[in-house]
Amino acid sequence: MELLENKIINEGIYLGNDILKVDGFLNHRLDVELFSEMGKEWKRLFDGENVNKILTIEASGIGIACIAAQYFGCDVVFAKKSKSSNIGDDFYKASAYSFTHGNTNEIMVSKNYLTGTDRVLIIDDFLANGEALNALISICKQAGAEVVGCGIAIEKKYQGGGDALRSKGIRIESLAMISSMKDGIIEFAC
Ligand code: 5GP
Repeated sequence: MELLENKIINEGIYLGNDILKVDGFLNHRLDVELFSEMGKEWKRLFDGENVNKILTIEASGIGIACIAAQYFGCDVVFAKKSKSSNIGDDFYKASAYSFTHGNTNEIMVSKNYLTGTDRVLIIDDFLANGEALNALISICKQAGAEVVGCGIAIEKKYQGGGDALRSKGIRIESLAMISSMKDGIIEFAC
């Protein structure tokens, strides 16, 4: 998606260690007009799939998921990274190693909000090694929900998580696909 690629080129900052900082429009300040265009594009790509729920992970997935949900006319559920007092005891859980934070998160979703009748689109801001998506897919499997596919804003393709999931038959639609960030020069896959 050209709009997103231009944002990455103009405002993205390469921090080293394969980490791209996009705080100016995706992870801190949120560019809602850009999010709308992203939501429209995921709707176009997943139209006809009867998505009735969007699943994401806190925190940065929530904004893009909510705007996208307006195009799908469905609700959003986000996986929590800590056990707050109001989640109860009945939840699905999975663990995901965080590439950016260097720790493992136990993520959880209340059994009240994901069921075997759901057709789920998973949305997240980045796809690197695929840990977050694998954990979200595991949670859907535990609920018996159908994963229609995954909508990703920025996939760093060279880290391999996306292709590993695709080879397992998971549909992944990434709006910007980075093929290399060698020496801080960002290149996109066609
Ligand atoms: P994965 O689980 O696929 O290894 O990494 C995806 C998760 O890590 C995303 O939810 C995102 O929060 C974070 N992440 C991975 N790579 C980057 C990056 O280059 N920049 C930022 N800002 N977050 C990243």
